[in-house]
Amino acid sequence: MIKISEPIITQEEKDAVMEVLNSGQIVQGPKVALLERQFSNYCGVKYSVAVNNGTSALHTALYALGIRSGDEVITTPFSFVATANAILMAGAKPVFVDIDKNTLNIDPSLIEAAINKKTKAIIAVDLYGQPADYTGINKVAKKYGLYVVEDAAQSIGASFKKHKTGSLTDIACFSLYATKNIMSGEGGMITTKLKRLSERSKLFRHHGQNEKLRYSYSDLGYNYRMTDIQAAIALVQMKRIDQINKKRKQNATKYNNAFKNIKGLEIPFISKDNDPVYHQYTLKVNKHFKMTRDQLKSYLMDKGIQSNIYYPIPLHKIKHLQSKQLSLKNTQEVSKQVLSIPVHPQLSEEDTDYIIKTILTI
Ligand SMILES: *Cc1c(COP(=O)(O)O)cnc(C)c1O
Repeated sequence: MIKISEPIITQEEKDAVMEVLNSGQIVQGPKVALLERQFSNYCGVKYSVAVNNGTSALHTALYALGIRSGDEVITTPFSFVATANAILMAGAKPVFVDIDKNTLNIDPSLIEAAINKKTKAIIAVDLYGQPADYTGINKVAKKYGLYVVEDAAQSIGASFKKHKTGSLTDIACFSLYATKNIMSGEGGMITTKLKRLSERSKLFRHHGQNEKLRYSYSDLGYNYRMTDIQAAIALVQMKRIDQINKKRKQNATKYNNAFKNIKGLEIPFISKDNDPVYHQYTLKVNKHFKMTRDQLKSYLMDKGIQSNIYYPIPLHKIKHLQSKQLSLKNTQEVSKQVLSIPVHPQLSEEDTDYIIKTILTI
């Protein structure tokens, strides 16, 4: 079967893990510190803070910004559940604003209507590896004095107006989960240009404890540390970011050329400001296609091709996140149309040819 994602694990990752195990220093140590430096350089920011996953990165970022109980945080309803859960974890309330029908990211022109006195921040998501519209988002944030968090879990290496993700807002969060473009099994990174935010993040991941002053607790904190074992894997993976993202783009271009004139199939819309990294290659299957979206998914499965729906249930429809909302009609509509097909760098030329042939045959 052709899988929707497949982590790259070579001898180099294995050797890196063994080196850490043999060193005896396995928890947060020199590899984590090195990863933080390299990550900052890569994204073009001053500070990076490594944590144990992308969800805790979001929770930590909200803490660093001072978000707490009674606050409201605006976000997109079309994302992985962790984006909105992190807002609840901080004690705040998620307020969902509809997406742009083309980019599938939060629509900046609709944000203003959702702002009130309790609003403190906006979390934008770079869905499928395409940056959100940070010109529009940062503009409305500035007007109302709000912070902006970038959920860049899917967009490592992408850029918006030539600036890398991670450098576009006050603070950004990445995931190194096994299915992401680069991974460490589980892992997360926070990037920021502000020293104060990096220092607050470091306290939060370590029980509220100053890393240089043991048993001095300035606030409630968590144990969100990354191990040197994970950092060692991530350091190897970082060397390949540009190469693997290039392969994803090549696969996407090949699909675009094959699918651009098929009735009922819409290829991904990429804004002219963006250089995306195709964490997913997502088609929209509309009512003019020969099959429904769900039929296409099972048809592909029968032919040995795994595909997936990111995400079938908009976040405002999930019980613990439900709340009264402004119209979210684009999200409702699009969640019934999207289908992601394999685009990862482990696909061979024969694999992508076979996927194209299978869909064209319909
Ligand atoms: C993967 C992901 C997360 C959560 O990251 P984990 O490392 O799995 O905790 C958050 N937001 C988005 C958009 C994601 O894709």
